Amino acid sequence: MASSNSIPVLLVFLMISAGLSGCFGDDSKELERGIPGGLTLACLSDDKYTSMVVEIDYESGYLPEQTSIDLVKTRLEQVCNKPQGIEILLTETDFGHEGQWSSNDVREKGWNAKLNDPERGSTLYWQAIFPSGQYANDGVLGVAVDASTVAVFGDAVDDAEGPIFNRPSAEEIENSVLVHEFGHLLGLVNLVYESPVEHEDEEHEGHSNNEDSVMYWAIESANIGNIITGQLPDDFDSDDLNDLAGMLSGEIETNNQLWTN
Ligand SMILES: [Zn+2]
Repeated sequence: MASSNSIPVLLVFLMISAGLSGCFGDDSKELERGIPGGLTLACLSDDKYTSMVVEIDYESGYLPEQTSIDLVKTRLEQVCNKPQGIEILLTETDFGHEGQWSSNDVREKGWNAKLNDPERGSTLYWQAIFPSGQYANDGVLGVAVDASTVAVFGDAVDDAEGPIFNRPSAEEIENSVLVHEFGHLLGLVNLVYESPVEHEDEEHEGHSNNEDSVMYWAIESANIGNIITGQLPDDFDSDDLNDLAGMLSGEIETNNQLWTN
C-alpha cells in the first residue's frame, strides 16, 4: 500500500481483510470432504482419474456466462492430465436456501446437489454452485469450501462491477473469480504444499502477491473494481504453474490429499 494513512483507505483495507477471512470456509473440518487442495493430485495426475466432470449447479437466473464456463474448462485442461477429457455439466438447481450463505451452507447445499461423489471410478467430479443471495462476509465474491466444492455469488459479482471507464465488467469478474476458486481446489497458493518461491501474499493467506495472477488476493474481493482497473488476470502465473508442475512430479511434497498414487 502507498504511504497514505487516510481513513477511507484504511476502511477499505479493513473491509477487504474481513471479507477475505471467509475465503476457505475452514470453520468446519470434515475429513472425507477434505480441504481445498485435497484433490489436487487427483486432478493433476491421470494415474487414477482419467476424466473429469465440472458440475455447475446454478439457481434460476444465475447461469454463469458462457465465457466463464469455457474459461474454467480451458484452464483445467491446461494443468490437469485428463486423457478422457473434461466435461462441463450444467444443472439448474433449487438450493432451497434463503438469505445469506455461510461456508457450511455452501458445503451442505452443494453436497445435497452433487450428482456424484467427487471420486467415482476413474472420473473426478468438481462442483461450482451459483446460488442466489450473498455470502455472510460482506465483500466476498466466491469461496472454496472443501476439496471439491466452490461457490460464486452472482449478485455480489454484479455489484462489484467497476465504474464505466477502465472497468472490469461483471462478466470479466465472474471469469476471474471462477478460475480463482478452482485455483484453490488446485491447492494454490500454499494450501497443501509449500512453494519453493515466495509468492504467497503476506497479508492474505493462500493467495498470490502478483496482481497478474488469477490467484491475486483481491480477485475475489468486492473491491476488485477499485483495486484493478483495466484487464483482470484470468490465468495462473508462472509461479502458480511451477507449483502445480512440482506437485505433479513429486518435487514438491503435497499434503492433506484424499487420494495419492
Ligand atoms: Zn481466494
